[in-house]
Amino acid sequence: MSNKIICLFDVDGTLTEPQQPISSEVEKFLLETVKKEFDIAVVGGSDLNKIRDQLGGRNLFEKYKYVFAENGLIAFKNGKALPSQSIQDMLGEDALQDFINFVLRYISELKLPFKRGTFIEFRTGMMNVTPVGRNCSKKERKQFHEYDNEHHIREKFIQVLKKEFPDLGLTYSIGGQISFDVFPIGWDKTYCLRHIQGYDEIHFFGDKTAEGGNDHEIYESDLTVGHRVTCPKDTVNQVDVLMTLVEINVHF
Ligand SMILES: [Mg+2]
Repeated sequence: MSNKIICLFDVDGTLTEPQQPISSEVEKFLLETVKKEFDIAVVGGSDLNKIRDQLGGRNLFEKYKYVFAENGLIAFKNGKALPSQSIQDMLGEDALQDFINFVLRYISELKLPFKRGTFIEFRTGMMNVTPVGRNCSKKERKQFHEYDNEHHIREKFIQVLKKEFPDLGLTYSIGGQISFDVFPIGWDKTYCLRHIQGYDEIHFFGDKTAEGGNDHEIYESDLTVGHRVTCPKDTVNQVDVLMTLVEINVHF
């Protein structure tokens, strides 16, 4: 008997170019070749709508055995929702509100070249904090990113939060151009692994596997076999190699 394997893929930079929909070549390879041998699953940091936009609309749940949005805080198996936790359950309303108030106060005193709206986006398992405001234009997004590279607005903000709230059990991750995520320690992508059962091997493929990257913890986890990829094409190549190796093991 061969080992039962599931391939678990990060979305941005692994199955798709960042923020873009999956290419028809990559999707065809997954659905017509890989799925014949292994179960396939996806885990993204963004919300379900975003993942749905990138990975093929209404049929998303037919394509992938497991779909994990927000690192697995939002989880589906065969299209059926699995139990979830929220950041407000974890922190409690009181601590949560102290944190939010502090963040808004800090932003209110921050002088930037410009500011727009929506400074905190509240998700199921995390908060996304954007000093410049999420609803800035594409051009402004780029301008802030350059400004931040020079002035380290996000980095300094995180240092202040760590000092102010040392006991909340929160961790911070800078991703994208304008924001950072705040979530309970352990609610990184390894969170989704608690939902995956019945496999001998979980092969994870991700592009941000270095320390500080959002694939780091799951790539390093003892529960996965980690694969570091550079782009969707590299993902296809590496899955191809895995399939060949498994094939050889079965025959000898
Ligand atoms: Mg990625």
